[in-house]
Amino acid sequence: MFIEADINPTNTEMTDDESERHLILQTYRHLLHSFKTPPDEKDLKMLRAAFDLAVEAHREQRRKSGEPYILHPIEVARICVEEIGLGPTAAVCALLHDVVEDTQVSLKDIHEQFGDRVALIVDGLTKLDGLHETESPQAENLGKVLRTMLSDVRVVLIKMADRLHNMRTIKSMPENKQKKIAAETSFIYAPVAHRLGLHKIKTELEDICFKIEHPDEYKDIARKLEEKRKLRGDYIEKFIQRLHEIFKDLEFPYRVLGRPKSIYSIWRKITTKHVSFEDIYDLFAVRVIIDVPKELEKRRSWDVYSFITDHFQPVPERLRDWITTPKSNGYESLQTTVLGLDNKFVEVQIRSERMNEIAERGFAAHWKYKNGGKKDDPDIYEKWLNRVRETIENSSGNAIELLADIRSELFTDEVHVFTPKGQMKTLPEGASALDFAFSIHSDLGCTCRAVRINNRVVPIHYKLKDGDQIEIIADKNQKPSEDWLQHVATSKAKNRIRSALKEEKRIQADFGKEIMERKLKSLRVPLEENCDMLAKWFGYHNRMEFLSAVYLGQVDPRQVNRNFRADGIYLVEKEEVKAVSAAPPRSFVPKNKVGVKPEIIINDEPGSYYQYSFAHCCNPVQGDSIFGFVLTQGGLKIHRATCPNANNLLAQYGHRVLNATWGNTSKSDFLTKIIVTGIDTGPGVIQQLTNRIYDLGINIRTFEISGEGGYFEGHLGLIVVNTDQLQRAILELRKFDWVSNVSRAD
Ligand code: MN
Repeated sequence: MFIEADINPTNTEMTDDESERHLILQTYRHLLHSFKTPPDEKDLKMLRAAFDLAVEAHREQRRKSGEPYILHPIEVARICVEEIGLGPTAAVCALLHDVVEDTQVSLKDIHEQFGDRVALIVDGLTKLDGLHETESPQAENLGKVLRTMLSDVRVVLIKMADRLHNMRTIKSMPENKQKKIAAETSFIYAPVAHRLGLHKIKTELEDICFKIEHPDEYKDIARKLEEKRKLRGDYIEKFIQRLHEIFKDLEFPYRVLGRPKSIYSIWRKITTKHVSFEDIYDLFAVRVIIDVPKELEKRRSWDVYSFITDHFQPVPERLRDWITTPKSNGYESLQTTVLGLDNKFVEVQIRSERMNEIAERGFAAHWKYKNGGKKDDPDIYEKWLNRVRETIENSSGNAIELLADIRSELFTDEVHVFTPKGQMKTLPEGASALDFAFSIHSDLGCTCRAVRINNRVVPIHYKLKDGDQIEIIADKNQKPSEDWLQHVATSKAKNRIRSALKEEKRIQADFGKEIMERKLKSLRVPLEENCDMLAKWFGYHNRMEFLSAVYLGQVDPRQVNRNFRADGIYLVEKEEVKAVSAAPPRSFVPKNKVGVKPEIIINDEPGSYYQYSFAHCCNPVQGDSIFGFVLTQGGLKIHRATCPNANNLLAQYGHRVLNATWGNTSKSDFLTKIIVTGIDTGPGVIQQLTNRIYDLGINIRTFEISGEGGYFEGHLGLIVVNTDQLQRAILELRKFDWVSNVSRAD
């Protein structure tokens, strides 16, 4: 056929078609070869059937990159097999994972052809239909994945492979979509991967997200790493060589690997530990992997430890024994840092082949060892699945809350505490004494007045520590209040508090209703027909909120008479009032009162007009990259792309995020905040700083300065016209040699 095409060069379509088919088959063959143990006849037949069905179903579809869509499910299947270590059934499901969602094939068809199990998994992977009505389709869909995971863990593993492939090929997406997907990934998928111990996948996801979210920082670190790659490689090689000499008397097989650090992990260290690239760069890491039977793992690991520390000085406080007590995501390893050759620090990880596989492939590897292993093994993942189940059962049903609960409860480590009778309770790290009270009984939680920990009275929001013994002091007159929600971390406590508050609100609303009804009597209209309108007019989300505010005196009922007249059974706004309220509602008046309101272009449609305001969390300045966030009550908030809330918003409410850019470069004024730190050289500091700023033609709105031990920290509110001017101010202030750092505050 190829020859024919060659002879007849005008038939180019045929050639494309043929080479595409060739590519698809080649990718599929690659998938088949990726199985460690070749699939048997029956499995091969099923794989082929899934492949044929998927090829046919996706025939007309293409990915954003232009390549045939079918390559995506094949690649996802290959990741499942080769990188996660799953078997043929998972590969079949991966091949079919987008079929029901995107094509004519129904779940019933899948069920008929492939049976219960495959249908269950594919269903779990199929996005819910018609979700655009709900607040967060992303959260709803992930909730579904987690729920199905309880019946078959492969659902979440295939989902991870799907996400990984989408991230690997994200380049062909438009930039704003990339940002949205990256936010969703770093907000939820990377933590799930971490929780499941899928270390390699987690690391890769984080690096891709980081590259999209912080392209400049990414390039910077990548460049520095590249510059030092040779030096670094030489050193590690020398060190490993030395280890081989030290290990020459070891009586069991082992291997030693150098360990590259991910760009994202370097950046995280730089920002959270406030160290320089060079400090981290100097930290080398190697891994010693030993091949011994399970019962000898621990002893042999310590043998290796003592061989190494006979020759290199260890740093005692860096010793970690995750073998005796594995991490809650299953991770096992013996870790230390030694002073290596040329007095450079080297981190050493010692572990068995089994531990290594668990460290890299977590959940998936664990499953494999569990099948062959002893039944009485403490099963970390089983426990975790039980907690997922509990969280889902306890959840109020709102997908966004579920997602938040899962994040806070399941992605953290645990604390172990005791009741006065010595009974142990396990709670997520970050849980408070109040969480503990609710974990015992919801009545005890609701009436919790004070707490005694290790015989000392502490406030109810005290954060639990390992080994605490806790006694709850209850008081019948105590009632949960709104601020309690800030003090608890577990979903159980949150839900109990929420329902108690709701009950309280319902009672208040009943009283408020009476007040409003009395008011409306004078206008001779019923409350029922007008309540929703009034709630909205006064700016409340719903009746209950509105009526309880009436009871609490937060709404002035006289406003009704002043602004409305009766028209039959309905209230209508008086004419003169309407004219006034046609102006933008107060929350959308832009912050910058001086100068012109800047034009914001939404989704690349010039002239599109939106009522917007600038978010206070990040105070955008003209020139910043920004996005728009649609508020539920209408209108738009403009955030900086680097806003600390951005990831959260993009991940959970991606559908409410609009692409925004600056329009005209008008002379608008923007309030922004900077922080200046440095050495306190005396009373002249403030004057020198302010003079330099005024010299640049910038006004200062606020200036607070505080100092301690010869250092000062100044918080300045500046009025600037754009980021150029702001950047110039920052650079100018840095020129003082007594200033150590100047940065934007938000
Ligand atoms: Mn997919």
